[in-house]
Amino acid sequence: MESLEVLRARVEVLLFDVDDTVTTDGRVEPVAIEALEALRAAGIRTVAVTGRPLGWAEVIAWTWPVDLAVGENGAGWMWRHGRHFVTRYFEDEPTRVAQRVALDAIAREIGRELPALPHAGDQALRRCDVAWDVGETWHAPEEDVVRASALIRAAGMRAPRSSVHLHAVPGHWDKARGAVRALADRFGLGPEEARRSCAFVGDSGNDAEAFAFFDTSVGVANVREHLSRIPTPPRYVTPSPRGRGFAELAQRLITHARGIDG
Ligand SMILES: [Mg+2]
Repeated sequence: MESLEVLRARVEVLLFDVDDTVTTDGRVEPVAIEALEALRAAGIRTVAVTGRPLGWAEVIAWTWPVDLAVGENGAGWMWRHGRHFVTRYFEDEPTRVAQRVALDAIAREIGRELPALPHAGDQALRRCDVAWDVGETWHAPEEDVVRASALIRAAGMRAPRSSVHLHAVPGHWDKARGAVRALADRFGLGPEEARRSCAFVGDSGNDAEAFAFFDTSVGVANVREHLSRIPTPPRYVTPSPRGRGFAELAQRLITHARGIDG
């Protein structure tokens, strides 16, 4: 990974992970919100891309300084258009209904096999996946997380993991695929244009596909704790962790967009 100092890309859109990228212990850092406002004032569009529920993405899209919010690791996305609100999904409705049946089955199976592994506290707001708390309110035993991941995969689903949650994902979405569709819907960007003109910043395993896809991929400093689950590490890393690292990246992008430095 290279220092942020050598980042030279002129970026039109900054996509960002939420947990442990703009938050610490689940609280959004004021410095990160200020950085989002500054990015938009500089003409750089902002897009939240989170593993959190679509119910959270809806609140983020309504209330944060963002142009678009992608939730559940790419399962859906939404944006505010004046007083109107647009919601889109990766899968069509019949597919989502069938996937719900499969999700209910894996949730029952893991509940039987690993009764001590709790659902994520935000499960009620999820629409397209199921999540378990592996690091948000406690530290789940690693063997339980490995066992749950194996059960999810045996059921034909993927099992991405963030710093806080393990997910059962029954479709082909991930943060990169969901973001590409969302960027096309919201801004009319094609995949190649998106790859070149957008930056992505995150910190953990469920950001891996986005780190691999976007040319300008950035990890906040705490990404170093999760590199074992990230096959293609981000190209750049910020000096500071979490919200302060995000603000450092924002400042770098704004400075460079204005052509103030080389
Ligand atoms: Mg994160």
